Amino acid sequence: MNGSELKILASKMAGTKNAVIFTGAGMSTESGLSDFRSKNGMWNVEDPMELATTTAMRGNYDKFHSFYSRRFEAMGNSRPNAGHEIIAEFESRGLVKCVITQNIDGLHAAAGSKTVYELHGSVNKVRCMDCGAPSTQQDFIGRNPCAECGGRLRPGVVLFGENLPEDALKSSWDASETCGVFMVLGSSLQVSPANQMPSMAKNAGAFVAICNRDVTPMDYLADYRTNMGIGEFLMKLKAELE
Ligand code: ZN
Repeated sequence: MNGSELKILASKMAGTKNAVIFTGAGMSTESGLSDFRSKNGMWNVEDPMELATTTAMRGNYDKFHSFYSRRFEAMGNSRPNAGHEIIAEFESRGLVKCVITQNIDGLHAAAGSKTVYELHGSVNKVRCMDCGAPSTQQDFIGRNPCAECGGRLRPGVVLFGENLPEDALKSSWDASETCGVFMVLGSSLQVSPANQMPSMAKNAGAFVAICNRDVTPMDYLADYRTNMGIGEFLMKLKAELE
């Protein structure tokens, strides 16, 4: 990476004015939330196949509930970081058309981003496991039953073994196919469909930028690649776009 490459990325963004930002867990580490697959990531400490699954939810609700209660608490204490805020500012300036995120923490919306596709759902949505009636985080944490049917509550996040929300997925594919710049921030791009969107964008003619600490399997198609911290990277990009 050097300064002239960053200038090219900035000029593509300014010229096309419809960048798509794709974010993963690395986006929120600067807000104090742990990521999943890096060395100290959550999945190296706890086993997702025991906790974030439909099997755990139905077969071991106590453990499932305790895991998500702890995650909710961590997220409740977190705030958007400088990177989230710069992305929201880019959107308000017409440089970014949407954010596609694998994160469930709601921090993009909290920072002011308007068009956010949450591929893995959101902690801000809780519903009944049985009848699907909406409920609240407080009721989930307090282990209150569903007000409609007395069933148990669950977070509105996508568990292993569940499908991604169709609307968010379709909007994300459409956006990837029609953007001038596709920018990955803090995703290891190891799970589907995250690992397909950059190549779809690239095939449709987009400039692909990847900012991630570790290598990703999609690095080969990046027009711009950096392992800078996301906050630092976005501040430099913003300075180029002043
Ligand atoms: Zn219910």
